[in-house]
Amino acid sequence: MLQTVDVGKLSLAAYRGIAPNAILDEVERCAESLRGARVLHLNATAYGGGVSELLRSIVPLLNDLGLVAEWQVIGGEDEFFHATKAMHNALQGSERGLSEPERAAYLANAERNAALLGDQRYDYVFVHDPQPAPLLALRGKGDARWIWRCHIDTSEPNRETWGFLRDFLSDYDAAIFTMEEFLPPDLPVARVEVIPPAIDPLSPKNMPLPDDLARQVLGWIGVQLDQPLITQVSRFDPWKDPLGVIAAYRLAREQVPDLQLALAGSMALDDPEGWEIYRQISAEAEPDPQIHVFTNLTGVGNVEVNAFQRLSDVVVQKSLREGFGLVVSEALWKGTPVVAGRAGGIPLQMADGVGGALVDDVGECAEAIVRLLADRHEAEALAEAGRKRARQHFLLPRLILNELSLMLDLARERPISPVPVGASPHRDPVCGMAIEAAAGAPQAMQDGEIFLFCSESCRARFRADPERYLRARGPGVSSR
Ligand code: UDP
Repeated sequence: MLQTVDVGKLSLAAYRGIAPNAILDEVERCAESLRGARVLHLNATAYGGGVSELLRSIVPLLNDLGLVAEWQVIGGEDEFFHATKAMHNALQGSERGLSEPERAAYLANAERNAALLGDQRYDYVFVHDPQPAPLLALRGKGDARWIWRCHIDTSEPNRETWGFLRDFLSDYDAAIFTMEEFLPPDLPVARVEVIPPAIDPLSPKNMPLPDDLARQVLGWIGVQLDQPLITQVSRFDPWKDPLGVIAAYRLAREQVPDLQLALAGSMALDDPEGWEIYRQISAEAEPDPQIHVFTNLTGVGNVEVNAFQRLSDVVVQKSLREGFGLVVSEALWKGTPVVAGRAGGIPLQMADGVGGALVDDVGECAEAIVRLLADRHEAEALAEAGRKRARQHFLLPRLILNELSLMLDLARERPISPVPVGASPHRDPVCGMAIEAAAGAPQAMQDGEIFLFCSESCRARFRADPERYLRARGPGVSSR
């Protein structure tokens, strides 16, 4: 048997008044037709990074909605995780592909895990990211609909590595990407969905934390609360550019001498590269007592991250390449302004100029930090608009709605019992997010049909080329 992750219990009702109620109503309506459906989520780690963060909340909420959901993780040795990290980097565009021994380690591990998958029957199997992708080819589909959920930016993958992975994907019923731009060339899956992820506003990382408690938490680990503070929370990974953050901090400090920088990075079990980056950061930060480097291994967990995102004057996320960047919505949800790299899903979260500033290099990053520290009025207004946007579009119930809607569509194509009824919810045809119809969302009329959008940016993109998005509504990127 693969390891099952114990997820506890959550209740959708607890999100009333926090996430938009209209979205919760839609979630309940869609779930009604899927009661009893058996769902397996499969990934490579129970801890560390965005995927495990999401599954820890999605799985118990699906159970609360009457589906029968579980989360299992594949196992692997160091050799496998080195291979899959190389694969991850190659799929995000690194020139270094997979060596023969790395391919062999990946395949051998897939075979071991396929044998451990057990004989349970599922209606839906969601396979997250490349690590467990071959399990379908090795195990066969059974009665289930298999969905490959890709969380990374595969828009310009290393061709060889993509060719290797691609062969394992052709039998999937659907593939989900965070953004349309991430779709790799010649994807062999007929049905493609674009669904951005979301954060759980009730998890320990995002739940309300009284100011005095948050101050106590940060004071205890050595942060000076009477000095300005900027923070980046992310895995120690070159794509998150932690050394660029230190460089931007040094520039900003020329104008704000008592500025502190906190770098909080979790060590994911499936990310051996983290240790090397951690050593580089520590060496760079060593001579400066105003730079604090924290990890989950030294006790910085969810509540500490919550406190950092809440009490920092500015949260930084200087990613060079990014899948989505959950940390941005986490900070915005707490009403903190963000300075972030214009990468991956970050511009969608901060669309229409809300939330803070998008930057392209170290200099711009430093300038934006200094500006937001100097003009607290502007910073607060941007943060408040960002918080509203996070509430409307990036909280968990919206993501669950998108996923239930896909499950319903797949069941209509190949019925499960009972056959689901009812229309799918409205969706933004550009970013794919489920949209609350009554929320005063930006609209556009095309060919006699009204389309709703999450932002003016999405509406502008649609208007510039409606054909592209209408075409995508067929067998390709689904928009409704
Ligand atoms: N995270 C954390 N502690 C850390 C660093 C990161 O809990 O020290 C969490 C972070 O709060 C977020 C997730 O890990 O929930 C990272 O997700 P994101 O989408 O930003 O990046 P990924 O790691 O998936 O590339």
